[in-house]
Amino acid sequence: MIKRNSIGRGDKTLAVNRVGGKGGKHVSKCALSYQRTCCNGKGYVFDVRAGYMHAASCQCVKNCELCAGTNIILADGMGKVCFEPNPRLIVQRMNGAGIPARFADSSFDNFTNYTGNIGAQVEYVRQWLADFAAIGGRGLLLSGPVGLGKTHLLVSIAKELIVRRVGVKFVDFFQLLSNLKGGFARMQSETSVLQPLIDVDVLIIDEMGKGRNSEWERCVLDQLVMGRYNCNKSIIASTNYILHTPTGKEMSKVNSNLEDGSADNFSVRELGALIGSRTFSRLAQMTEFLELEGEDFRRKNQNMWLKGTS
Ligand SMILES: [Zn+2]
Ligand SMILES: [Zn+2]
Repeated sequence: MIKRNSIGRGDKTLAVNRVGGKGGKHVSKCALSYQRTCCNGKGYVFDVRAGYMHAASCQCVKNCELCAGTNIILADGMGKVCFEPNPRLIVQRMNGAGIPARFADSSFDNFTNYTGNIGAQVEYVRQWLADFAAIGGRGLLLSGPVGLGKTHLLVSIAKELIVRRVGVKFVDFFQLLSNLKGGFARMQSETSVLQPLIDVDVLIIDEMGKGRNSEWERCVLDQLVMGRYNCNKSIIASTNYILHTPTGKEMSKVNSNLEDGSADNFSVRELGALIGSRTFSRLAQMTEFLELEGEDFRRKNQNMWLKGTS
């Protein structure tokens, strides 16, 4: 039974936000403290809206007998948060992040491609994330060919940061370029699109370097990287291009893949050559480079399916 009036003046034994009390004795805690199966005790759920991940408060929060979904309760005449981390704030920030719909469910918990060096690198990413300071923290640049799960990892990072109250914006670089072009048609200035990406606590850029790498495209990336560098703000990014000068072995592997048509040659192009040395060297200062090697899970799944049905 939940005692509605158990929070009041002079009651110094408030159990507000007490999580994990034994045997349900502490009745004056948020509905979320009961680890509901509806949202695993998080207080929000994900769906999809207009091509993006959309978060919403879970029904259990709305039904909380203490806060009725506001997440604010009155205790000793003061407003207090019913549950931390505040699901309403998280929902707002998740919806402001611009995470693509296809990755709405992605998290570290459901990442599965542990081929090659990816398992070790994911461990590294999780440790890096645990140590990451929102402002001025050293960012991360994940590189590797398509199909390794880089976007899944970026989204997982984004979600964990948001839960830690960090403001995050996620952009697919190619999509950003086309948004900018669309903005020109609507007489929207480039600055009005780019400035929020410079101001946000953490900017996440997926598929950096994708595009034609025209002078204008390089200039867009340069503005983002320099803008954030000057404000001492972090960038977390992924790229399909390599971060070092290709070794002879890599070149010969790519050449043989090209002959049998099993790989495109993009992965062996250097990001630095594509985006320009100035932007690249700033990125090298601002981020840790992490190169992923493993199997393309889309191709792997396809092969398994083909084998299973032949
Ligand atoms: Zn509550
Ligand atoms: Zn719930």
